[in-house]
Amino acid sequence: MQIGMHVSIANGLDKSIDNAVAMGCTAFQIFTRNPRGWSSKPLLKNDITNFKKRLDTSKIDRLATAAHMPYLPNFSSPESVPFTRSLKSLIDEAKRCSKLGIPYLVAHLGSHKGLGEEKGIDTVVKAFTKAAKETPHDVTFLLENNVGFKNSVGSEFEKIASIFFKLKPLDRFGICFDTCHAFAAGYDLRTEKTACLTLEKFDEIIGVKHIKLIHLNDSKGQIGCNIDRHEHIGLGHIGNVGLSKFIKFANAKKIPIIMETPIDERRDDTGNMKKAKELAR
Ligand SMILES: [Zn+2]
Ligand SMILES: [Zn+2]
Repeated sequence: MQIGMHVSIANGLDKSIDNAVAMGCTAFQIFTRNPRGWSSKPLLKNDITNFKKRLDTSKIDRLATAAHMPYLPNFSSPESVPFTRSLKSLIDEAKRCSKLGIPYLVAHLGSHKGLGEEKGIDTVVKAFTKAAKETPHDVTFLLENNVGFKNSVGSEFEKIASIFFKLKPLDRFGICFDTCHAFAAGYDLRTEKTACLTLEKFDEIIGVKHIKLIHLNDSKGQIGCNIDRHEHIGLGHIGNVGLSKFIKFANAKKIPIIMETPIDERRDDTGNMKKAKELAR
């Protein structure tokens, strides 16, 4: 099974791999740069060599690694300046992934700011199509399902499908399925039966073969709360049973799993790794 955490790059990109290895990760996700700003320092040759070398000597499969887009870009933005800025950062980030040998770049679909989801969908399609055209082919963009917060784009499977199937070329795109986001958007994952039904629904509307990564997070909020608050595995409103179903689904389909769980007095990353491995059995 390929499972791991979102790991910090605070001490350097290659050190993020050390963190992942130390926790027993067989997959991991990073931000390639500070996620809170617009600008990024260019990658140095040394950063790239060290990262690749460290990854090669680890037991982690390169194809089980992903980068997450920074927080500020909004690909559904109706305003031209933020849109252009967002698109530029998407292109820049995909190029960084390619240099580092990271195959997947996870992106949120953004907010239409009140102009309606249809308009937002057109904008998002424009952004991703352009980004695919201008970036190396070895990077796949993964669209992440949203929690359905006010004005957000892409929380219902039907809406994600109407974005996804407009993208060209389609083989440059996939889905990152976040369990917390789906649950917060109203999809029940609490029992084996409801988790299966949700996956069947996804399969009908989009196709599970397009899921390239799972974000395995429990939810602090109730079903349909539309709030993005991740909880430790099994301690939230989804619970052990539904999350276990997702782990088994991912393993059967050989989809890497990434946890983006909190670190607090109740549990740390190692604790969530241990819990997830238990639930895989
Ligand atoms: Zn995300
Ligand atoms: Zn989230």
